[in-house]
Amino acid sequence: MTEQELDPAWPEHAALFLDLDGTLLEFAETPDGVEITERFKALLRRLDRVEHGAVAFVSGRTIARLDELLAPHRFALAGVHGSERRRSTGRVAPAPIDSAALDPVRERLRRFATDYEGVLIEDKGISLALHYRQQPGLAAVVEQLGTNLAAELPSGWEMLEGNHVLEIKPAGIDKGAAIRQFMSEAPFAGRTPVFIGDDVTDEAGFRAVNELGGVSVKVNSGSTDARWHLPDVDAVLGWLEANVPQ
Ligand SMILES: [Mg+2]
Repeated sequence: MTEQELDPAWPEHAALFLDLDGTLLEFAETPDGVEITERFKALLRRLDRVEHGAVAFVSGRTIARLDELLAPHRFALAGVHGSERRRSTGRVAPAPIDSAALDPVRERLRRFATDYEGVLIEDKGISLALHYRQQPGLAAVVEQLGTNLAAELPSGWEMLEGNHVLEIKPAGIDKGAAIRQFMSEAPFAGRTPVFIGDDVTDEAGFRAVNELGGVSVKVNSGSTDARWHLPDVDAVLGWLEANVPQ
């Protein structure tokens, strides 16, 4: 992959797929600590008004939590990296997954959070995330934990390492699959997908969008399959403000 180009081209008929944390919202020390700015709210109002309605958020958060952060708007959503999905019609299609299989892992993570201060466990039912943004010095210990857990995960589950987060989620489900599903349905079908994301978990989305002839945009630096690049949240907001129809 060559170096990404700056200033991505906005397609004539865009279907917009957006990651949230680290893309449209600055990271906070904890997932609940994110700041909802006036600028963000103004952008949401604009996104909610686009005539064709081909806008979806594609996030690691649950649909329930996304609705809270995006209120009062109700967008099409893919939550927990695509494990749950709400179409633009409002119909929710959750993945049939037995989360009790994760109980031993759940217990391991809880113990780890008790042993190390500043570690936060987010239990989304169908996935578990260990956040250590408050203690970045724990990276090596968390990596070791990840290696151990990877060897013991029940079948049907996989581990993802993101930006100061270790996440266990259903295998074979990712943001790329969620974007492909949206792209097969109205009002997304027939449009050119644009996907903006900042993390390892977004790479499957970038690859799907590349294959669909769309515009993949990586926020921040780091190795990526995205074709385009924007430096930070501020640049993403600016690019959307310049291009999303008024
Ligand atoms: Mg993100």
